[in-house]
Amino acid sequence: MDFALTDEQKAVRDTARAFIAKEVMPLEQEVLRRERAHQPSLEPGELRELQLKAKKFGFWGLSTPQEYGGMDLPAVTQSLIWTEIGRCFVPFRFGGEADNILYFADEDQKREYLLPTIAGDRVSCFAITEPGAGSDAANIKLSARQVGDEWVLNGEKTFITNGNDADFAIVVAVTDKDKGVRGGGTTAFLVDREMGWKSEFIQTMGEGGPASLVFEDVRVPARNILGEIGQGFTLGMKWIGKGRYVIPSNGIGIAERVLQMAVDHANTRETFGRPIGENQAIQWMIADSEVELEAARMLVLRAAWAVDQGLEPRHSSSMAKLYGAGMVNRVVDRALQIHGGMGYTRELPLERAYRQVRLYRIFEGTDEMLRLIISRDLLRGYTKLGQV
Ligand SMILES: Cc1cc2nc3c(=O)[nH]c(=O)nc-3n(C[C@H](O)[C@H](O)[C@H](O)COP(=O)(O)OP(=O)(O)OC[C@H]3O[C@@H](n4cnc5c(N)ncnc54)[C@H](O)[C@@H]3O)c2cc1C
Repeated sequence: MDFALTDEQKAVRDTARAFIAKEVMPLEQEVLRRERAHQPSLEPGELRELQLKAKKFGFWGLSTPQEYGGMDLPAVTQSLIWTEIGRCFVPFRFGGEADNILYFADEDQKREYLLPTIAGDRVSCFAITEPGAGSDAANIKLSARQVGDEWVLNGEKTFITNGNDADFAIVVAVTDKDKGVRGGGTTAFLVDREMGWKSEFIQTMGEGGPASLVFEDVRVPARNILGEIGQGFTLGMKWIGKGRYVIPSNGIGIAERVLQMAVDHANTRETFGRPIGENQAIQWMIADSEVELEAARMLVLRAAWAVDQGLEPRHSSSMAKLYGAGMVNRVVDRALQIHGGMGYTRELPLERAYRQVRLYRIFEGTDEMLRLIISRDLLRGYTKLGQV
């Protein structure tokens, strides 16, 4: 067993770190200032400019196949890069990416949706959640009825990331109620905003926010079916599956950053004539945070490795997401506590991180649903203890 990163993994990680330090980190104070003034953190044009700079650095399409101009990096390397991104408070991500399920598009759809999304000329969103179906995604109701060469969509989606900015949505709809969602009764559609869906921004405790999407007799040509009829739920689960190692990878970076802030503060802030870091209460918070951070790193890299090995990643990714999301919430909470009253102010980005990471325990599989998956795998014997 070798825990060391390969030279190539280290080189990619260090180059990503250097790019972020040089081009992205300097924007942090401005981003925080804008957010305090209730302005967008980063304008789309600014993000694009950064992404094009990163492209010159060699970073374009971390997960995009090389035939589409991407880097097609192994999941472990992608995980390392998402950790680097997490260390910076600017809401930056590398460009040249498209939703993993857009590769199920046919050739015409690839030209119309996939390629412009990779290029950054079109913005997509993925919509499965509904007001009555979140964790229980198999309970979706948004319907698609075939009328001649078209499908007519009616219903509502909610909490859709990018839903207010996207110019097309990948929508999972019920096409055959009798078959049921798990029995092939759903289909994914590529639905342009011009086809008639409406979106409304949802305010959340985080910066930015998702949107609700309303479909009222939205007519979608049959050529806009993504993949096969009946494949909607399967594609939806594939989309969600990816986030299960990306989200905690990002969380590791956030935890590293705030824990370093806590260590620095513990060494410099004095009470009762000595640095607060000399108190066991503070030391234990720091120690527990590092242990949990490193445990999460192992689980997350193990889950990404399973993806690279072509192993079924469900169990390991569920553990990585469950533990990684909990870990970053606990570490941010302790870092905030170590900063005392200052931690609670908007002078420092800790309260922002606190609000941001709370989401990690909810989206793309709540803590409770992940526990359900992990325990069911064991109870039903899909996974044997000690053989993950
Ligand atoms: C900011 C944000 C962005 C999002 N982005 C997207 C997106 O881009 N696309 C998309 O389709 N969706 C998106 N979502 C939706 C997200 O995936 C759902 O919110 C999530 O799956 C939980 O569903 P719910 O909110 O309906 O909660 P519910 O399913 O109503 O759950 C409520 C609570 O009950 C618990 N619970 C539910 N069932 C059980 C059970 N059987 N046993 C034990 N506990 C249970 C849950 O864990 C949770 O704590 C986003 C959500 C947010 C907040």
